[in-house]
Amino acid sequence: MKWVKDRTGRFAKRPHYLPEELDSRCEATISAFLKNRHDSTEFPISTDDLTILLEQNANTLDLYAEPSGLGVDVEGVTDFYSSRKPDVRINKRLTEDVRLENRLRTTLTHELGHVLLHGFMFDGVMRQDSLFDATEKAESNQCKRATMLTTSETDWMEWQAGFACGAYLMPITALTRAVQQFIQKEGVHGPTIFLQTDTGTALVDEVVKAFSVSRDAAKVRLLQRGFLAESAEVGSLF
Ligand SMILES: [Zn+2]
Repeated sequence: MKWVKDRTGRFAKRPHYLPEELDSRCEATISAFLKNRHDSTEFPISTDDLTILLEQNANTLDLYAEPSGLGVDVEGVTDFYSSRKPDVRINKRLTEDVRLENRLRTTLTHELGHVLLHGFMFDGVMRQDSLFDATEKAESNQCKRATMLTTSETDWMEWQAGFACGAYLMPITALTRAVQQFIQKEGVHGPTIFLQTDTGTALVDEVVKAFSVSRDAAKVRLLQRGFLAESAEVGSLF
């Protein structure tokens, strides 16, 4: 991790991580949690486990936040404080509707990314009008569906939380193993699997099944880590 200028103007400087650094941090979090809780690391991670992991790291977790109190299209919110761990609120539609479970899993891990990667940025940050109240909320970060998985890197907090979401749900070692098994099973030749092909579709299906994620989450993760390539690009698998 290195510190770079924050072009959003929120902070004087902000942390920049290489994808490999985020992968290894997120995998360490998931592995330690699963080993401690189940004495083994198996995928997909259950939604209960994701909820417990987020509860352990946040100050409070509200899984039944009223949509009207969150803002249009907001699925999750992380409220940062200057002197304690963040509070997380999840839109209750995701918790109550079983058909939205993948979106719930995405949102839980996206907010976990904010809590673990960004909570420390607000330590000691106080609003100018409340210098003497250390429990004052420093910032309320609203996360919308459209940018839950990925967004422009300029919006670095959202981008990092989106990347972390994929890295928690599909940790790099397990993902690499799943891709290698797929290649052997399917007898794939050549260095690149393209997204817009039957093989690309089959790989996305495999990852969706292995990690209980949405197709969008699987696609974004496979593209980000170079296991899949957009048809116009040339990339290598490993
Ligand atoms: Zn976010």
